[in-house]
Amino acid sequence: MLFLELIEKKRDGGELSAAEIEGMIEQYVGGDLADYEMSAFLMAVMWRGLSDAETTELTRAMVESGARFDFSDVAGPKVDKHSTGGVGDKVSLVLAPLAAACGCVVPMVSGRGLGHTGGTLDKLESIPGFRTDLSHGEFRRQLADIGVAMGAQTEDLVPADRSLYELRSLTATVPDTGLITASILSKKIAEGAEALVLDVKTGSGAFMQRLEDAHKLADRLHQVAVLAGLRCAVLITDMDQPLGYAVGNALEVREAIAVLSGDAERSADVEEITLELTVEMLVLGELVDDHADGLDRARQALASGAALQRLGELIAAQGGDPRVVDDIGLLPRAPEKTTLTAPAGGWIERLDARLIGDAAVALGAGRTRRDDPLDPAAGIELHAKRGHRIDRDERWATLYHGPGADLERATAKLAAALSISPDKPADIHLLKERRP
Ligand code: URA
Repeated sequence: MLFLELIEKKRDGGELSAAEIEGMIEQYVGGDLADYEMSAFLMAVMWRGLSDAETTELTRAMVESGARFDFSDVAGPKVDKHSTGGVGDKVSLVLAPLAAACGCVVPMVSGRGLGHTGGTLDKLESIPGFRTDLSHGEFRRQLADIGVAMGAQTEDLVPADRSLYELRSLTATVPDTGLITASILSKKIAEGAEALVLDVKTGSGAFMQRLEDAHKLADRLHQVAVLAGLRCAVLITDMDQPLGYAVGNALEVREAIAVLSGDAERSADVEEITLELTVEMLVLGELVDDHADGLDRARQALASGAALQRLGELIAAQGGDPRVVDDIGLLPRAPEKTTLTAPAGGWIERLDARLIGDAAVALGAGRTRRDDPLDPAAGIELHAKRGHRIDRDERWATLYHGPGADLERATAKLAAALSISPDKPADIHLLKERRP
């Protein structure tokens, strides 16, 4: 069948067969389809959607487009976590060593930040010397030695997703639940995970801003993961305000180290979400009997310092300076800082995650294009969060920046992000739902 006929079929609401999807991915990865042809197909999918069967086939074809990591010779349950992305989301930095300290084997393939959302690889690379370009062999050795490795997608791991994701980000075709599901799950299946915990974010700083869209994505991810043979749990969590108090790469590493060191006073939300997701990993990995048992185990690994020690081992194994876990002064520091104060007294009603993410990009902590340079030290520290009382002229944010920052834009975005009310706002639950 000509590819034009497949575009027409999807445009007119038809369902593609497994063979058609497999052929399409093979042709695209082989360079036999032009980007304009694939773009037209993706836009047809945006309008018509993909059925569960099509999404499952697309996921499978994308996995088959490249190499597959195989860690079956490494003892222990291979369990990973994936978040759909947000602002200040440093959970992976705490969770991966914590889950490993509790007995999981965590082969975490992560991404870079794009737009207002941050990326785990950029955060890790703010640690002096830290390498994320691990080969399959390096992943395996590290998993066998310390139970955790955090790296970038290798050249040959799901090449179909590399090209398709790039094309989707240029053609306004990212936010389709079928395409997102196939993109996320293909990478997790190819990296060798046997079980997966998904953190689907909802709110202004998330892909899925409305809860009903987050439900659709969560259910689709769960259904296709199970069909593909992965044990899977999905949590829907709040991303209407940033997670924790730090937004920006080295600043987030500092906060993650503080949480692992038992200093979570300002990071109760990070700790809560991390513990919930870690417990789901332990349950899926059959390392604990139930949720309560998992929570005990995870809390113990935090309190004993075992999780912090595992982070140090991870940093050392990947070429970074492990002394940062005891001395955060070794992380990059911005040469300048600017403090913002509240224009009025009252209760903080809203701290818009999207606008704060945009402000961090303006400071140089994120990128708008894939090859934009990053300033690892740039970012924002929030001194107050939603539901806190604040006095007029009290500081609520500190901006950390260097020569490349657009301070005017960042300040304007932050001013728009803050809403103060005379009334105490209702509590918003961080953990919204477990699906299904
Ligand atoms: N993250 C991914 O890896 N893929 C998507 O399509 C969206 C978010």
